[in-house]
Amino acid sequence: MTSLRGEGLFKNYGSVVAIDDVRFDFPEGKFVCLLGPSGCGKTTLLRIIAGLEVPTAGRIMFDNVELSGLPVHNRNIGMVFQSLALFPHLTVAENIAYPLRIRGIDRTDRNIRVDELLELVKLPGVQERRIHQLSGGQRQRVAIARALAIEPALFLLDEPLSALDTLLREQMQVELRLLQQRLGITTIVVTHDQREAMTMADLVVVMDRGRILQSAPPVEIYRNPVNSFVASFIGTTNLLSCRRVSDNAVEVFGNSIVIPNERASAISVGTEGTLNIRPEDVVLKHNVGDDDFKGIVEFIRDLGASIEISVRVQEQTVLSVSTPKNRPQVEIGQSVGISFHSSRAVVTAQ
Ligand code: ADP
Ligand code: MG
Repeated sequence: MTSLRGEGLFKNYGSVVAIDDVRFDFPEGKFVCLLGPSGCGKTTLLRIIAGLEVPTAGRIMFDNVELSGLPVHNRNIGMVFQSLALFPHLTVAENIAYPLRIRGIDRTDRNIRVDELLELVKLPGVQERRIHQLSGGQRQRVAIARALAIEPALFLLDEPLSALDTLLREQMQVELRLLQQRLGITTIVVTHDQREAMTMADLVVVMDRGRILQSAPPVEIYRNPVNSFVASFIGTTNLLSCRRVSDNAVEVFGNSIVIPNERASAISVGTEGTLNIRPEDVVLKHNVGDDDFKGIVEFIRDLGASIEISVRVQEQTVLSVSTPKNRPQVEIGQSVGISFHSSRAVVTAQ
């Protein structure tokens, strides 16, 4: 059964087209990440889904019921805003109980629910504290608990972790994912951080300039990006000019390499495009073989767990990544050969 569907959505602010013909179909119980650069329309789309913004055209269907027909308080949606929007003059317990109070739940039941929610977000015992007595991570948890108080059918979060430092942020990503899996709520999180999206999502929705470019599981997007923008937004990649010379070959750096037909089909034979190849699919050797591309080592970045080596090949830089176990014994300025695991490369039109 489809849980959440967007049909032909547009949102204009004067001459700005914030949402430009967006459609989607999110299955029930999934964790969806809306990912894209600042200003691409993520918040606008989330607010349309929440019913806080009226689309210029199109509609949202929730379990086959049109959402715009329902008043906001009947939509059963829990939302965490980027600003968190906690009430500073209320205690933690009063903040979390607020949505229950306005729904007329009595005090005893409210208190029981607050205790349960604080256990759920791993923050027991802070019921009577004020918001300013909490750390950033604790405030985050309170905002999540408050959004979950009404047992929403849909959980929406706008860059919920952006104010946290890296370590805490990565920890909270895992917690949020585990919490969502335990509760099984359809969840949509806005983020501009690809690593965050890869950590949490069942489905990553890559957006740019008001449009959805690709919507797929993280690894699928990593392996089969639809264009260079998506390829470079998800992980690191090499984007090399190429020309398709036959059904299953492209020419790059003046040599022909084999690419499976279905991974080259974005451009027709005889035309130019971009070869997307991930750094871990670039093999570097200190002995240059006949079929290898010749290059000069430009930079070596030893990160301990991985080693990144940039190689200048003709006018372009190719990045290769290897593990310490397979560390190529090379130095800056040295001539090397490189080859590609080309069956894993993908050709895109731009
Ligand atoms: P994101 O969340 O991806 O950073 P937004 O959805 O906030 O992007 O904004 C998308 C575009 O719509 C931007 O160009 C932004 O300036 C514009 N926009 C968003 N909200 C408004 C508004 N209330 N009035 C006018 N323009 C807006
Ligand atoms: Mg935003």
